[in-house]
Amino acid sequence: MSEDELYCLKCDVPLEPIKTTFRYLKHEFYVEIPRCPVCGQAYVSEELANGRMANVERSLEDK
Ligand SMILES: [Zn+2]
Repeated sequence: MSEDELYCLKCDVPLEPIKTTFRYLKHEFYVEIPRCPVCGQAYVSEELANGRMANVERSLEDK
């Protein structure tokens, strides 16, 4: 199973990357995340949840 072929666990269909808006600490970010075209379930990787959010926190603290 390759890493860019993510499947929805519920629907068993490949997830499609979509641009979505992330809200975090009153800021909005545009990110591309894989989402199920059937049930709309978005897959947020741990890397995104931890890594990117940590980067955001850092950049906010730098101000
Ligand atoms: Zn689904």
